Amino acid sequence: MSNTNKAGQVIKCRAAVAWEEGKPLAIEEVEVAPPEAGEVRLKILYTSLCHSDLYFWKSRDGGNLLFPRILGHEAAGIVESIGEGVTNLKPGDHVLPVFTGECGECRSCKSEESNLCDVLRLNTDSGVMLSDGKSRFSKDGKPIYHFLGTSTFSEYTVSHAKCVIKINPAAPLDKVCVLSCGICTGLGATLNVAKPKPGSTVAVFGLGAVGLAAAEGARLSGASRIIGVDILSSRKEQAKKFGITDFVNPKDHDKPVQQVLVEMTDGGVDRALECTGKVEAAIAAFESVHDGWGVAVLVGLPGNEDEFKTKTMNFLYERTVKGTFYGNYKPLSDIPSVVEKYMNKELELEKFITHSVPFSEINKSFDLMLKGESIRCLICMEG
Ligand SMILES: [Zn+2]
Ligand SMILES: [Zn+2]
Repeated sequence: MSNTNKAGQVIKCRAAVAWEEGKPLAIEEVEVAPPEAGEVRLKILYTSLCHSDLYFWKSRDGGNLLFPRILGHEAAGIVESIGEGVTNLKPGDHVLPVFTGECGECRSCKSEESNLCDVLRLNTDSGVMLSDGKSRFSKDGKPIYHFLGTSTFSEYTVSHAKCVIKINPAAPLDKVCVLSCGICTGLGATLNVAKPKPGSTVAVFGLGAVGLAAAEGARLSGASRIIGVDILSSRKEQAKKFGITDFVNPKDHDKPVQQVLVEMTDGGVDRALECTGKVEAAIAAFESVHDGWGVAVLVGLPGNEDEFKTKTMNFLYERTVKGTFYGNYKPLSDIPSVVEKYMNKELELEKFITHSVPFSEINKSFDLMLKGESIRCLICMEG
């Protein structure tokens, strides 16, 4: 079955459908409607599993789950066809779909200081397209929900055009695929928000993909000491490849980890990046920065009810805490230059991709992530 020259028509293709919470995905033949105004249909070539897919496949808070749904939000592909009024993309463009957008018109898009588009901001509760509140996916006439406007666990998907980043066509899609979520989140948190000076000391809490990307940002910034903090000592060896010079497992100490870091660094680290989403780690990150100039950046996805508590006095002593979303990158404007950083061999991406599976074995990537064995597992749609 060929899907070439199907512009304006329904495409039938394979997708990995999540029918129920926590159950293995099922590879099904689905129908993908053509894009409506302001939308594009993409042929996905590579995708990878990110923690947020796991979160919405099996919610740790037990709410807001929509099924059946096609998950997936970190991917690379090619524009197959475009809907009415789309001017930023054309068929054949090489692209990264992303879970947030840049309409270019709203107050946030017009502000240099924000990447939180008021129109296309991340919406985890929606399972439909904005223009008509409907899904473009169906099976036997029954709709299947979208996920984050990306749904990349499908050979073809429909996205809002302003959530799709056009990139250098020479960039290898099996590598830059990982830039559409986790790696840019961690990298941007360091480069755009923490902004460590050359020679400084940076602590990174949580050495999963986002934390290691934050460490990669610290390496690119010329930090001389990068302290990795993780409760899994098995991550220590791997972390060295990402420039981690010191490793601290909080479980190996009988005092709070912030005290350990303050003692190790003669008064505190210059910058701390919290990449676990655990509120205790967020507080520890903030309390481990040096007074006078220390900045802690909270990157991890927190629980809905979590509250951040610290002594107010810590602020008087000129410490700063900042939050970040998608590394503060405006997706359409800024990510093409991150792709160029990879093309110039400044940024290393290969080391993040520890595994790869054919699409037919997508459930293996869930097992690898649940066991903590993979940083990123590439899923090749052709297989
Ligand atoms: Zn993600
Ligand atoms: Zn906007």
